[in-house]
Amino acid sequence: MVSRKDTRWTRDPEGQGLSTSDISEPSVSVTDIKHYFYCPRIVYFERVLHVRPNLGSQQEDSSERHGEYVRRELRRRDAIYYSPNLTGATKMFFVPLYSSKLKLTGTIDLIIRTREDEYIPVDYKNMPSNHGKIWLDHKYQLTAYALLIDEAFNTHVKRGFINYIPEDKVIKLEITHAMKVYVRRVLSDIEKIIREERLPPIKTSKKKCAGGCGFKFLCPEQP
Ligand code: SF4
Repeated sequence: MVSRKDTRWTRDPEGQGLSTSDISEPSVSVTDIKHYFYCPRIVYFERVLHVRPNLGSQQEDSSERHGEYVRRELRRRDAIYYSPNLTGATKMFFVPLYSSKLKLTGTIDLIIRTREDEYIPVDYKNMPSNHGKIWLDHKYQLTAYALLIDEAFNTHVKRGFINYIPEDKVIKLEITHAMKVYVRRVLSDIEKIIREERLPPIKTSKKKCAGGCGFKFLCPEQP
């Protein structure tokens, strides 16, 4: 088991290690929530050990060029952005939000504010959907964005969309109160992982371990 005290896994090039007491932990990010749903250990490696994932060049390229992919998608005439149902709506891109109540931070690709004053988050993914459905980590990432919007705009987000760019697929997600409560519970668990510097048990399928989490190289008990 990798210990937090094991300085091999810190980013410190001198190998001196970083005392966690010297690091003031920033808030939990929506990306942490997405990672938690993929595998809670990713949160531990990134937020406790401060190790960078070992991603394939394609994955890195994809995340670095996210903004470019979104802008390209918006040039398509049938993008959700141009939906007749949203005529007259206000559209805000790459909106950074912070909740002091939840200690949660995140930048939302697109927020649509309809003429009826409904707020709708839209997240763009440069990857295929889960056979026409939303991936679990994307579902709760969008729910976390809804919580941020609720607080920032004093509203109650009830739905959002995920746009899987390679498939030209826009999938609607109903965002319920129960889903928001669940994400709040997950937030507490993430805070606990960080605070207690605890390596979470493996709850992830073997398929995910083979599928580019970026931490296979140091995960101590990988199947
Ligand atoms: S190798 Fe598997 S258990 Fe370890 S971090 Fe990756 S997905 Fe999680």
